[in-house]
Amino acid sequence: MTATAAVSLALGGCSGEPARKDGEKLRVVTTVAPLTSIIASVGGGRIEVDGLVPEGVNSHTFEPPPSASRSFANADVIFINGLKLEDPTRELADRTKRSDVAVVELGTSALPEPDYIFDFSFPKEDGKPNPHLWTDPTYAVKYAEKVRDVLTGLDPDGATVYRESTATFVAQANALTEAIRADQESLPADQRELLTYHDAYAYFARTFGWRVVGAIQPRNFEDPTPREIVGLIDQVRREEVKVIFGSEVFPSRVLEQIGKATGARYVDVLRDDDLPGKPGEPEHSWLGLMRFDYLTMIEALGGSAPRLRTLDVNQAGADHARYAQ
Ligand SMILES: [Zn+2]
Repeated sequence: MTATAAVSLALGGCSGEPARKDGEKLRVVTTVAPLTSIIASVGGGRIEVDGLVPEGVNSHTFEPPPSASRSFANADVIFINGLKLEDPTRELADRTKRSDVAVVELGTSALPEPDYIFDFSFPKEDGKPNPHLWTDPTYAVKYAEKVRDVLTGLDPDGATVYRESTATFVAQANALTEAIRADQESLPADQRELLTYHDAYAYFARTFGWRVVGAIQPRNFEDPTPREIVGLIDQVRREEVKVIFGSEVFPSRVLEQIGKATGARYVDVLRDDDLPGKPGEPEHSWLGLMRFDYLTMIEALGGSAPRLRTLDVNQAGADHARYAQ
């Protein structure tokens, strides 16, 4: 018998018993760092949240370690992105959590199916939509509201805390939205174009009126083949792309290669789920991450981003987030 099966059998006997004693914090388990940060903000100190996907790790191919089954067994609630981002994690969670514990898919609940985006790295025939909803602040607000409602159901005494901390988060996310909208005006509309290594900004682009020219990373998350690189070089020339954006999580020499061949500049610092700074620092948060990415894009494309530069990224609840390293 595997360790995982043993855990799930042992727990079978005690499901239905209250897992949490009075005064204990709710134990929340989640996956990628931006979700960990959003959930901690909403929890306002009444919860402890564990993120399972280490920063700098490819969340699309992440396989949870066996130790994750213990986190699921102890969890009062599990939040994942869904939209088929974390299938192996969802599978382990379903096998090892207590039977009365919910696995809540924040992305799936925020995005009606007709609004799914399929594209270069997430083609429709694979059946997995682009899952990067959290990079669009208007959807991050929906994530926070869903977390608020679920936590309030589990911990009605915390209703006021969850309501107020969500209101604070929503105000900050809206301030980010306004800052992006103001700063992107420094770019002519036809220069709000993205060619990125990792395909993480499709929903942002739709909401904010940008055009995603393409993504360099193929659907298998490997580097493109030499033949694909030739095609990309053609595309960069044809579309007169001035800047190509790389990703911290997926360092690649391909950008440099395309840059040299086409004269396009490459900026390889974007992060789709790898928070800037260190745990405990204000920018080590969903808000710090998004501010960094959008000011990097706008400035690299020749615009200016004074509103984003001065945006306050301090978020409540940050002390109660544990990020896997
Ligand atoms: Zn991603």
